[in-house]
Amino acid sequence: AFRAWVIEKAESGQTLALRDVEPSELMDGDVTVRVSHSGLNYKDGLAMTGRMPVVRRFPMIPGIDFAGTVEASEHAAYKPGDAVVLTGWGVGETHLGGLGEVARVRGDWLVPLPEGLSPARAMAIGTAGYTAMLSVLALERHGLTPESGPALVTGAAGGVGSVAVALLRQAGWHVVAATGRGDEADYLKKLGAAEILEREALGGEPRPLAKERWAAGIDAVGGRVLANALAMTKGGGAIAACGNAGGMDLPSSVAPFILRGVALLGINSVTTPLAPRRAAWARLARDLDLALLDAMTTTVPLEEAGGRAEALLAGRVRGRTVVAVA
Ligand code: NAP
Repeated sequence: AFRAWVIEKAESGQTLALRDVEPSELMDGDVTVRVSHSGLNYKDGLAMTGRMPVVRRFPMIPGIDFAGTVEASEHAAYKPGDAVVLTGWGVGETHLGGLGEVARVRGDWLVPLPEGLSPARAMAIGTAGYTAMLSVLALERHGLTPESGPALVTGAAGGVGSVAVALLRQAGWHVVAATGRGDEADYLKKLGAAEILEREALGGEPRPLAKERWAAGIDAVGGRVLANALAMTKGGGAIAACGNAGGMDLPSSVAPFILRGVALLGINSVTTPLAPRRAAWARLARDLDLALLDAMTTTVPLEEAGGRAEALLAGRVRGRTVVAVA
């Protein structure tokens, strides 16, 4: 048996416990991985607290990402001993996830551990950091550069936000970091923010258009924050929408799109095909300053993942959390 967090369906809601799991309980897959680290993401918080119905199969081992070593493989690309990373594909939602010592998955979902990254640092990046990278790549594909104007990051003190601030700054952008936590201003400046914007500045009733403030943005929040961010985007600019920590709705209008040519770029990290997935990881391994990554990372043992998930949803967790599983 191996240890894992397990979510079970209960009469009212669900239960969450760290318990022994038999290998026979694992789901189908052609690669078995000994997990060393998992990342804690917003979606894990939703799954582990049951706040939103992201878990579609019970019992479920949560954990939407992991890094580890291949133990057994029937997949041509992987052999025992290979270091691998997984994010997305419904792992931790419909397929047993990374918050346990063993995971069995489809080899097609894996990425080789990028050169230059330890498993711990790969999970310090995790789904959140990988999503921040996909967002930066989408803005670049849109033709935006630091010369276009400032870049906004919302939910800046969270996981996606922290990596986004660091990546944009390193790429030369003037970063405006929007946060509800004013006491994290020094932290955000250390990561590379040039300006701190209070979350309230983006929390009012959105107008169709407002004074143009930035050319690009990475939004982890949604709702009014995204609507206001769009209304304040310069002509020809774009916002990459990757999150909904502030809500699923978008109380916007078509004005930014038709009067300013602003673009809304959707980011979905879960089912990104292998080639762009590997490209994003390669860029992360090449560009992300490891000292900054370490500065935004807290590591907790497997036993503490449950409590940490609660704190994450309560908005009390800064940056990224790595769960040391092994
Ligand atoms: P996180 O670490 O909890 O960060 C979320 C941040 O959002 C918080 O730190 C907070 O930032 C802000 N926030 C939280 N509640 C808010 C509220 N009610 N109103 C306004 N702002 C609020 O979570 P994460 O792992 O970075 O994920 C961020 C978001 O991206 C989540 O919605 C997640 O589901 C989404 N996501 C999507 C993808 C994808 O594939 N599209 C991948 C990964 C994550 P401040 O304290 O700085 O204000």
